[in-house]
Amino acid sequence: MAVAEPATHLLNQPALWIGAEALTETSGGRIEHVYAATGRPTTEVVLAGPAEVDSAVRLARASWPAWRDRTADSRRDTLLRLADLIVAHSVELSQVQSIEIGLPVQLARQMPAMAADHLRYYAGWCDKIGGDVVPTWPVRSLDYTLDEPYGVVAGIIPWNGTLMSMAQLLGPALAAGNAVVVKPSELAPFVAPRIARLAVQAGVPEGVVVVVPGGAEAGRALVRHPEVDKVHFTGSAATGRAVLAEAAQTLTPVALELGGKSAHLVFADADVRFAARIAMSGAVALSGQGCANGTRLLVHDSVHEQVVETVTARLRRVPFGDPAAERTVMGPVVSEESCNRILRVIEQARSEGARLLCGGSRAGGDLADGYFVEPTVFADVAPDAELAQEEVFGPVLTVQTFGTEEEAIALANGTRYGLGAYLHTNDLRRTHRVTRALAAGSVWVNGAPGLLPSAPFGGVKQSGSGRIGGAAGLREFLRPKNVWIPA
Ligand code: NAD
Repeated sequence: MAVAEPATHLLNQPALWIGAEALTETSGGRIEHVYAATGRPTTEVVLAGPAEVDSAVRLARASWPAWRDRTADSRRDTLLRLADLIVAHSVELSQVQSIEIGLPVQLARQMPAMAADHLRYYAGWCDKIGGDVVPTWPVRSLDYTLDEPYGVVAGIIPWNGTLMSMAQLLGPALAAGNAVVVKPSELAPFVAPRIARLAVQAGVPEGVVVVVPGGAEAGRALVRHPEVDKVHFTGSAATGRAVLAEAAQTLTPVALELGGKSAHLVFADADVRFAARIAMSGAVALSGQGCANGTRLLVHDSVHEQVVETVTARLRRVPFGDPAAERTVMGPVVSEESCNRILRVIEQARSEGARLLCGGSRAGGDLADGYFVEPTVFADVAPDAELAQEEVFGPVLTVQTFGTEEEAIALANGTRYGLGAYLHTNDLRRTHRVTRALAAGSVWVNGAPGLLPSAPFGGVKQSGSGRIGGAAGLREFLRPKNVWIPA
């Protein structure tokens, strides 16, 4: 079935606002947004360059006190109103999110409620931020800490789900009392500015949330800006390195939320069919373009055949195609560049002797113009092969086998990443042993709950150092000031 043309009229809103002013000419130039499902342009977008980034940061700095000095209950109620507004605009927001990156509507529809949930969770923190009383000696004194916001936070976000990225950033950053300049990717410039306008409608003072869609140049200008007090970066490990190097010039603190190469460890005592169903989502969810997707299947020898059969049979049947079709579960990848890069990785794996079990090609027929890569599974992948080591960020899974628990752990930990790990076992003792041994920021046992607002999510090793969610996520946006008063 042919892919439906997107409702491009939904995109005809300014993407770049500095305060209440929508800009039409910028130093960052313009790009044409392309709908990933058809490969055809939708609309032109103005991008921020260094001049607009500078204006945005100055505005955020000037506007910050109006938010910082709000009472806790006012901040709480404002965030709750923002959550309500996102839900009230959920139809439009999910359609825009779907067109932005070719996300299946079925999935895009879940995003507003999830984003609202994150904001509500952090709204609940606003009236619980305080400090501690600190014991002192030998001089009698009162010593206490004040948990204070940083000031202006630069939030650099990826393209793979801007609605959730905005909620995960704005929830804790605003609850803590910061102003935020957000730089979305030029590939996904539509959703983030809408959230910023809704924030104003909810009662966040104009200028406290400023969105500057742009490319690497805008990102660099934001990181090096002397009026930025903290950088919160979400993206690839390679860009994370560049951000750290740039931030070293001003010694600006940086939180890094980076990529992963997360593993599913399937033990023989697991509910193997259920595990296989969860594991296949590593390729399907966001077309494999999720940071926490489990893309390496590590399977005990004795259940290997069963897992592979279930995963490949299900992947061959997965509803794949037009993001606007109700039944579609898996859509295209984000861009032609991504599509070509993923196909190159597949070709290289084949040439190195990996055994292709399913997929492996760009989709043809009605999908030929879009950036559709078939869900792909490889077996016989050497542990040190690029495919087993590097994030593909596309619908490609690898299957490796293990004989012992030690081998499983060694394989799971054998990459430079450490974002998540999915453990499938019904042995309680093994669960405790293996979760402790895994070098990963999160371990999900017998299921994949998604990112919970209340749970800390983030990486170890080269998957980053920051945390999103929970009290740990809030702490990224607060710093303690110590006060000492003699008795
Ligand atoms: P990316 O690293 O290419 O870009 C991320 C952001 O950084 C974009 O806004 C981009 O414009 C900006 N940027 C690029 N160069 C920059 C520079 N030199 N200085 C400052 N900013 C710069 O990543 P992407 O392709 O947008 O997203 C995919 C990556 O993000 C994957 O690696 C994925 O795993 C990761 N990711 C991680 C998480 C997490 O929470 N850990 C969540 C989502 C995505």
